[in-house]
Amino acid sequence: VRLVRGRTKKLIVAFHFQLLSNQAGWRCEHCRTAGLEIKRRCGWLSQAGNTAARVVWARKHVSINTCPKSFVTAQSLAWLEEFAVRRRLWQRWPEELGAREAEAFLILESEWEAEVQNG
Ligand SMILES: [Zn+2]
Repeated sequence: VRLVRGRTKKLIVAFHFQLLSNQAGWRCEHCRTAGLEIKRRCGWLSQAGNTAARVVWARKHVSINTCPKSFVTAQSLAWLEEFAVRRRLWQRWPEELGAREAEAFLILESEWEAEVQNG
């Protein structure tokens, strides 16, 4: 198990949650109406942070202690979107990428490779 934190982890969770898992059970509105938001430690809810940490969502080597919907950032989603589009179109990465973008695409690329190899 790799230990990843911060921005990298947010991006990896975005990849696995957004692209490769069933999101139907993770709609925050449904959580609220079903009273699951505390149990699932939804990040939108300040009280949820006071409950004992436990794994709420996991896939392969990633696991998080909060609801994945609230964990994934808009920035991660934007990178993921661009990654998916370029993948689909078999486009290469642009010549000039900022350091943060380059890092993000490398992370997504390696997650993608692992997925393709391990099924
Ligand atoms: Zn939530």
